[in-house]
Parts: sequence; structure tokens; C-alpha cells
Amino acid sequence: MIFTCPVCGYRELPRPAVDDLICPSCGTQFGYDDCSASHVDLRREWIRRGLNWHSRVIPQPRSWNPLVQLTEAGFAVRLSGVNMTEEVTRTVIGDEPLITVRTVAA
Ligand SMILES: [Zn+2]
Repeated sequence: MIFTCPVCGYRELPRPAVDDLICPSCGTQFGYDDCSASHVDLRREWIRRGLNWHSRVIPQPRSWNPLVQLTEAGFAVRLSGVNMTEEVTRTVIGDEPLITVRTVAA
């Protein structure tokens, strides 16, 4: 059985997110970090720090994408649009646009 991180949405936790489990994705230490901050606050902090893979013991999965992970967990909504010269993907949590990725449209 595997479990999902309530902070970042990582879906491969080996046990429930309690009792000093440290999420390899966002680095939250459950039972410690979440005593003084809510999961939403911890998620915002992880995003502000740049959505980096935390663990140095467990390697980052090759196809890991933190934005997809957040979206699939229901913590974010991705909005995409194409204008004349670029494709814009925005990841939104609540009504707050947090991350905008722009790539030149093909
Ligand atoms: Zn996590």
C-alpha cells in the first residue's frame, strides 16, 4: 500500500504521512513540520522554494514533474492558452496564479 503526501501530492509514500515520515518530494517531516504550519502553508513554502526534489537518498523519478504532481493531486489547476507567439501555462492554487511557464508556440 502506498500513500499520498498531503503537502505536495507525491503518491509513492511507503506509509501514512505521520510519525516522522519525511516526504522525499517536498521534504515535509510529518509530526514535526506540520505541528506549527498547515499543509497549505507548507505547500506554499515548497512552491516558493522552487518545487525542488528534496531527498538525496531516494533519487528523483526520471519523469517527475512537480506541477503535474500538484495538479493530479487536486492542489493546482493548470491553465493553458496560446496567443500569437507563445504558449502560456499557468498553475493556479486557489485563485492565486503562482507559476507561469511560457514557451514559444510551435
Ligand atoms: Zn510531499
